[in-house]
Amino acid sequence: MDKKLGVYICTGCGIGESLDIEALKKVATKEFKAPVCKTHPWLCGSEGVEMVKADMTNEGVNTLSIVACSPRVKFDVLDFSPALQDRVNVREQVAWVLPAGDEDTQMMAEDQLRMGLVKLNKSTPPEPYLAENMSKTVLVVGGGFSGMNAAIGAAQAGYPVILVEKEAQLGGFMKTMNKRVRPPYKELADVDLEGQIKKVEAEPNIKVFTAAQIEKISGGPGVFDVTLSQNGSSVTERAGSVVLATGWKPYDAGKLEHLGYGKFTNVITNIQMEEMARQGKITRPSDGKEVKNVLFIQCAGSRDENHLPYCSSVCCLVSLKQATYVKDQDPEAAVYVLYKDIRTPHQSEDFYRKVQRDGGIFIRGEMTAISEDGNKNLVVEADDALLNEKIRLEDLDLVVLAVGLVPTALDEMALNLDYRQGPGLPLTKYGFPDSNFICFPYETQRTGIYAAGCVRSPMETALCAEDATGAALKAVQCVESTAIGASTFPRSGDMTYPEFQMQRCTQCKRCTEECPFGAINEDEKANPLPNPTRCRRCGTCMGACPERIISFKNYSVDMIGSMIKGIEVPDADDEKPRVIALICENDAYPALDMAGINRIPIDPFYRFIPVRCLGSINLVWIADALAKGIDGVILLGCRKGDDYQCHFIKGSELANTRMEKISETLGRLALEPDRVRVEEISINDYDKLPVILKDFMDRIKELEPNPYKGF
Ligand code: SF4
Ligand code: SF4
Repeated sequence: MDKKLGVYICTGCGIGESLDIEALKKVATKEFKAPVCKTHPWLCGSEGVEMVKADMTNEGVNTLSIVACSPRVKFDVLDFSPALQDRVNVREQVAWVLPAGDEDTQMMAEDQLRMGLVKLNKSTPPEPYLAENMSKTVLVVGGGFSGMNAAIGAAQAGYPVILVEKEAQLGGFMKTMNKRVRPPYKELADVDLEGQIKKVEAEPNIKVFTAAQIEKISGGPGVFDVTLSQNGSSVTERAGSVVLATGWKPYDAGKLEHLGYGKFTNVITNIQMEEMARQGKITRPSDGKEVKNVLFIQCAGSRDENHLPYCSSVCCLVSLKQATYVKDQDPEAAVYVLYKDIRTPHQSEDFYRKVQRDGGIFIRGEMTAISEDGNKNLVVEADDALLNEKIRLEDLDLVVLAVGLVPTALDEMALNLDYRQGPGLPLTKYGFPDSNFICFPYETQRTGIYAAGCVRSPMETALCAEDATGAALKAVQCVESTAIGASTFPRSGDMTYPEFQMQRCTQCKRCTEECPFGAINEDEKANPLPNPTRCRRCGTCMGACPERIISFKNYSVDMIGSMIKGIEVPDADDEKPRVIALICENDAYPALDMAGINRIPIDPFYRFIPVRCLGSINLVWIADALAKGIDGVILLGCRKGDDYQCHFIKGSELANTRMEKISETLGRLALEPDRVRVEEISINDYDKLPVILKDFMDRIKELEPNPYKGF
């Protein structure tokens, strides 16, 4: 494409008062020879937008630099697709945080513009990747409550669904349930499994495979090839996306001997209690007599570092439900609940109140001992945390252990992915297949595969239904995005994808191994085989490749390197250091914007370069920046770890690992290691970001200017 550049500078929102706009225009017209460069006092108003559109129509402008506010705002108004476009943020990152009319403020704006224009210069319009014979069918794996809800959700949205269940009948764990507690959480409700199954069977868009297993899934979003085995024969179906809803299993009570399980006949689990209630009568297993005194022990294994360190979330509500079974059977029966905390979120608190009103006795504390008398009555001793004294409960007919939930993803290979990275989903430390529980709760670490219900996180049935619908909608978004060659989130709508110059590949496997989403397979000679529809466009492969042969149409090693080269570096005598902030667009960049919105001052010697993820940072940028005389480089990314995950799983982690190599580079250049720093920040830490930036700048100012200035 022959580019015709148009630079449009907004002078509204305080930009005009802060900056020398004529000098800014000179950067565009003299340094970058922009044939069209205009200003407008309110570029995002209809007149401003029309001015740009008129130039596109009448002047043939097809490459736009919008010098205005952050790209995170007004993105719909200032969208001039299909033109190649870029936003230079001189509002939140310059005019709102630096003194107006100041030389350093102006230098910063001009450098930001230079970098924006280099970026456009190095970009080419994306050409979407479109695979052949793409499917919009949603495959749902698991025919329990969540799976059936996901299937119904996707089918009612108009998408074909394949529902696969390993058992001979649909229903999953629900088949074993007696009653449900559901909104509005006032009374027990029927399970109505038959109604749910009828709904599935009546839906023409759903094709059900029961007593079926998935032998293999290959391909990627839009082109998943699913091999199913049923009744001894195999069939292959094509699907566009997958919802995994294989549910949970109870924690192994055999490991809870310290709570009396396996030792005393009248200690049972909540699963056994449910089965008894379903059979119609709650009795003592030892002699079959109806129960009079029942104790529920909460967190049986859950919230315990030796068993399940997490809260299983639903066991409190289950015990409240089962306490109601006991009271319904015999209103005179005594029901005790020994708990650490009763966790009944949202409206389910109403059901807790109901059980309290019905005479349930709640004791906050921990069991210290359990024994049995000659009549097989149980005796439980506990520390009562509220009374701060030891208590003793005698003559208990039954002790019910509220055992927690274990996700089936931990040990079931339900999907059998034919991926170079292995057949299962990568799991977080507790065995849930999440990728970012805060921002993308349904996303697994395999693109186009979404998790719903208890396989994703412990949850009660009403939440499972919501979760299943949410995951189904994500699966639908995925097939629609893939059909036009666009990425799923967080880079939703991105039409670029990594392109490999294979002639220079050394088969080092770095890209294959470091891709967080398993998007790259390899052939027998270790050549990378990218699957573009699996790609989430994070750029980690680009950051990893030592040969620098991976690039996107609008993001490349060369592009960012050239942007860095475009920064004007004053002489050492000027005492104006230059520090580059490579700033992750997911959390750190919005945090910087928020600091700007709150007018928290920042240092004018920073130059901000947004990156897709810290994992996409190629070390050559840092080496080149330091070799050019840049005084320091700070990498600002998301927090790593399971508690707050990087949006692309391991970008921050990789950045830290690669820091070792950066130290080598610094050593080679005889520069201080303090010149490069990695910092993690979350989006709501915007007030901390200016402090982090100041702290780093103070350190840089303590050091001598980079001796490579002027080379
Ligand atoms: S851009 Fe990210 S998701 Fe895509 S292939 Fe590279 S590392 Fe994998
Ligand atoms: S990282 Fe680069 S050189 Fe290594 S296998 Fe991938 S493409 Fe080839």
